[in-house]
Amino acid sequence: MERTLIIVKPDAVRNRHMGDIIKRIEQENFTILGIRYTKLSLDQAREFYAVHKERPFYGSLCSFMSQGPILVAALAAEGAVQKWRTLIGATDPAEAADGTIRKLFAESKEANAVHGSDSPENAKNEIAFFFKESDLVSG
Ligand code: UDP
Ligand code: MG
Repeated sequence: MERTLIIVKPDAVRNRHMGDIIKRIEQENFTILGIRYTKLSLDQAREFYAVHKERPFYGSLCSFMSQGPILVAALAAEGAVQKWRTLIGATDPAEAADGTIRKLFAESKEANAVHGSDSPENAKNEIAFFFKESDLVSG
């Protein structure tokens, strides 16, 4: 079964949408392999988003991602990466389709409620960033 790494970002935690988002995860039949409520340090945010370090939004993004608690989960489903990305919608909530998580809950292009891995390979690395394999529950 394919895996993906999802994050409920600090804006959505602050706006009390964790429950809404977990509800969607359950309704869409993802298997939760692991879930953690945590807070990133600035250095951890920089490491997690290192692929974006040359982008103009990198500094602001890392500061935003370390400003408050987050909920991180490793999920499994058939086609989990694309399934989650379809469910969350476009990066900019102004462009996200009706009913998507970002359309419903995001504040802005930066504070856009949720993260999702963009490929199965990146999902593997992102899951390893937060979870030991032995901490994941399968089945
Ligand atoms: N982001 C931003 N400004 C931009 C593009 C992205 O602040 O112009 C932030 C936003 O929080 C986004 C994250 O950087 O979710 C990672 O960007 P990416 O292009 O990977 O978007 P995603 O895969 O999250 O849709
Ligand atoms: Mg991305």
